[in-house]
Parts: sequence; C-alpha cells; structure tokens
Amino acid sequence: MLDIRPTCEHCKKSLPHDSNEAMICSFECTFCKDCVTSVLQDVCPNCGGGFTPRPIRPSHLLEKYPVSTTVVHKPVDVEAHQNRLKEKRNHT
Ligand SMILES: [Zn+2]
Ligand SMILES: [Zn+2]
Repeated sequence: MLDIRPTCEHCKKSLPHDSNEAMICSFECTFCKDCVTSVLQDVCPNCGGGFTPRPIRPSHLLEKYPVSTTVVHKPVDVEAHQNRLKEKRNHT
C-alpha cells in the first residue's frame, strides 16, 4: 500500500492525498509535478527510475487507511543530478 506522503521531497510543497500534482517513482519517492518536470527531468534522483502520477486515495477510505504524515524533505542537489543526466545521455 502506498504511503501517500504529504509533501514534495525537494521543495516541500504540500501534496494532499487528492492532489493531482503528486508524482511518485516505484519506491514512492514523492515530488510535485513542477520539480519532476523542471528540476528532475522525469528521473528520480534517489533511484534513477521514472515517475508516474500518484493515484488519488478515495476519501471514504482515509479513515481505515490513513495517509502518511511523515514529511520527507531531502532537497535534490540539482547540479549533481543534472550532471548525472548529462552523463547518462552521453553514454547512450
Ligand atoms: Zn516540488
Ligand atoms: Zn526513486
């Protein structure tokens, strides 16, 4: 089951359970759409995988399956991330 984390790991933007801006990777690293598009270029800085829009948990299930309230805030080293992306591109 997904944690449904409350914020973007990079900019700490609030991403409530019904946000349509929340993006997750397969390990549920959670970022807002803006960060994924502009900063991360659709590559997860933690695992190198891609992102997919996070599904919305229906509100009638929130009581039984509460969403996570643990804030994960690990700002991305943007320069390092973009260098990694560049290197990857050069190799392919
Ligand atoms: Zn963000
Ligand atoms: Zn990840």
